[in-house]
This record gives sequence, C-alpha cells and structure tokens, in this order.
Amino acid sequence: MKQERSRREFLRRCGPAAALAFVPTTAQCATASTAAGVSARKDLTRLRAKALDGEVHLSVYKSTPAFQSKTGQERFRTIRVYRREEPAFTFGQDYAEYFDGLSYQDAELIFQGPLEATNNRKFTYVDSTVKTGSTYAYWMAPAEGEPTGPAAVKVRDPEVWWTPEKIEQATVELQKKHPDVVTVNTIGQTVRGQKLRAIRLGKGNRRIALVGALHAGESGPELMIPAFEQILAGHKELLAHVSIAAIAAVNLDERQRLAEGTPWYLRTNANGVDLNRNYPADWDTVDYGYGLDTSDPDSMTYRGPAPASEPETRAVMDFLRTDPVEAVYAFHCLASICGAHLLGPKCAANDEAFKAKCTGFATAYGLGMDRSLPADGVFRLGTSAGSLPAWCYRELGVPAFDLEISSRESEAREKCVVDRTDRPLLEAYQQRHANGLRAVLEAMIARKL
Ligand SMILES: [Zn+2]
Repeated sequence: MKQERSRREFLRRCGPAAALAFVPTTAQCATASTAAGVSARKDLTRLRAKALDGEVHLSVYKSTPAFQSKTGQERFRTIRVYRREEPAFTFGQDYAEYFDGLSYQDAELIFQGPLEATNNRKFTYVDSTVKTGSTYAYWMAPAEGEPTGPAAVKVRDPEVWWTPEKIEQATVELQKKHPDVVTVNTIGQTVRGQKLRAIRLGKGNRRIALVGALHAGESGPELMIPAFEQILAGHKELLAHVSIAAIAAVNLDERQRLAEGTPWYLRTNANGVDLNRNYPADWDTVDYGYGLDTSDPDSMTYRGPAPASEPETRAVMDFLRTDPVEAVYAFHCLASICGAHLLGPKCAANDEAFKAKCTGFATAYGLGMDRSLPADGVFRLGTSAGSLPAWCYRELGVPAFDLEISSRESEAREKCVVDRTDRPLLEAYQQRHANGLRAVLEAMIARKL
C-alpha cells in the first residue's frame, strides 16, 4: 500500500514518461538507467512526449549536475532526437511495461542540431512528421552520452478521442444552439479539479440518465453529444414529454492523458481507483472479474480505500439523487465505441420484477440501435459489486446498465478493442445511439415503458 502510494506520488510529480525509470525503493525522479549498463548519470532527464493537434511535442530538462558544469554547456549545443515506430504495440493488450525494454540503438535519428532551451534548462522539440494512429517511442540526448527515454506516445485522431476541452466546447455549443431545451451546470469536480458538467435536455417529468467514460479508455462524449444533436435536430418534440440527464465524461483526468497520447489503456481515475467499483453497493464484496482483485491497490479494478471515496463517484451519486430517473445507461467498451450489449447488476439475480423492468429499458435501447438483434440477446446481468448499476439498484431501485458490445457487432469490436476506431465507424455508432435513445423516449411516451 505504501509502495503504491509512493509510486503514484512519483507519477504525479514526474509524469508517465519518467515512470519508465522508476525504482520503487527510491522514490526519486531517477536520472539513471543502471539496469541497461549505461552511465549512472544522464545529461538530460524527465523526457515527456505529448500528442497535440497531430504533432508530437517532446520536452526534456538538463539534469542538474551537467547544467552546472562548463563542459556540459558544450554538450548541449547539439541535441539528438531518436524515434522508433511501434506498430506491434496493441491498446488494451499491452501496457506501459511494453516500452521498458526498447533501445534507442534500434531507433532512427530524426534530428541532430541546436535547440533553444527555455530558461536555459528545458529543451522542446516538435515532430510534425508523425502519422495519426501510430505509436512511437522517443529518446533525446546531448552531443555525447546516453540518450534519455523512451517516452511513449500515440498520435490519436482528435475527432475520435475528444479532449476535456473539446467535450466542454461541444457541451456549451449544444446549450447555445438550443437554449429552450438544454441546460448545462457543474455538478462536482475530478481529483485534479476539472469541472464535471451535467447536460439536461427537455422538460418532461419522466427522465432517463446517461453516464459516460467512468473508465477513461472507453466511450461516452463522442457518442452522446452527437446523438443529442441528432435528436434535437430531428425529434425535438419528444423532449416536451420526456427528458434526458447526462454526464458525458466522468473520468476527465485520465481521458486527458489518453487524448494527449498515452498509448496504453487507462481505466482508473487519477487516484488509481476504478470508478465503476467505488459505489457504496456491496462494496465489501471482493470481485475477481478479469482475473483481477478489486481489493488490491495495484489492480486496474481497485475499488478504492472506502465506498464513494472518489469525488467523481460522489458527484454522480448526487446528480442521480437530485432528479429521479427511470433508467441509467452507462457507456463502456473501448476506444470511444460501445454497442447493443447491456449489462445489469449481478446482485439483482433473484429480483424477477426488477429484471423485467431492466429487460424493457435495455431491449428498447438495443433494438433501437439494431433491429436485427434477437430481442432476448441484448440484456443480461453482468456488473459487479461497487458498480454504478449495482448502486442504482440498491439505492434508487432503478434499472441501470453498462453498455458494452455484442458479439454480433464484429467489425466494431475488432477495431475498438485495439484502439483503431475510425471516423466512419464512430459516425455509424453516433447514429445507432441516436436511434437507441429515440426508441427509449418514444416507448416511454407511448407508455410501453
Ligand atoms: Zn468499463
């Protein structure tokens, strides 16, 4: 536990690139790579790589001893940048450790020359020769000596992975375009202080809720906001009778890191807690889904130190307690896509009346997305202790679902699990979710739900 905390402290101070050189027993921003048999001290440290607007921005600092020496100044007249493309890296199947064993000796020298240093300490280099969809490892070095690195980065399509800034812009725009039916307000904040925003559409008393991106590397804003635009453009009349309350993205902190190029799947919030295991619903029950352990702080499914310990969890709970809703749809799966596979809480296994209610809301949405699906193939019980659906059942008595993807959606599944969701696929799913949502609203108005 103590080591886990020091690791997180380290990550917070040094960033993910530096984590590659982390030695748990000495929680310092390490400047050495003794394991590789190179000099114990590097001239450059803290290499970071971020993808911004289709380019990679590298930054690195002069390490303190070299900065102070006169001979060191000579070395910094020439900076070398090495790059290796990593086509074998696979999102959702590989993690940060993938990059540990890479060597600059197999990499391409893409720059050699002078770079201006900000404050005489910090060098930045922008690589605009990268390809969208590709993953890279970078190293930087002065004229002589061992390079520091690797820093790993994936250049993602900003239309497929929205930054928190873009999510906010799209939210505000929706409200500005439809001030008669859309309201937006702040309902809390993330661990790192980003504002959590709720969008309310319509004035009808009967209401459903949508919750996106509890897991950072999954889905939410890219599907929801365009689906709302479609409903507002073509079926606004529905919102006179029923309404939608939505949080497009909960895990904004880690979403930001993904949008800025962290190549590997990120799931937990900035405290390392799985927000879909943190709800006060059978929280004490340890779950071993995916072969992981929800009580283990090292696990990607860590439930947190206490029920509702996380600010994001509490914000969602307050939000759902404020205005009664009849069903909650939480968007999951991977890489901005989720489909017509709706999972309810496992803890409701013996509650036949509740399961019947779930089936109604799940099937309306799923068949709205895809009429060719078998009616009995959309819904099943599957979410664990501490999940949002479990809490919605235990506290609110309301059907709630994790939206994943069905085995019949093979094209989408093959692409999104390896982070190859492209614009045409995303657009197809935006349409499907608009259809699913509309089907639920129409069924509510027709009193079929
Ligand atoms: Zn998920």
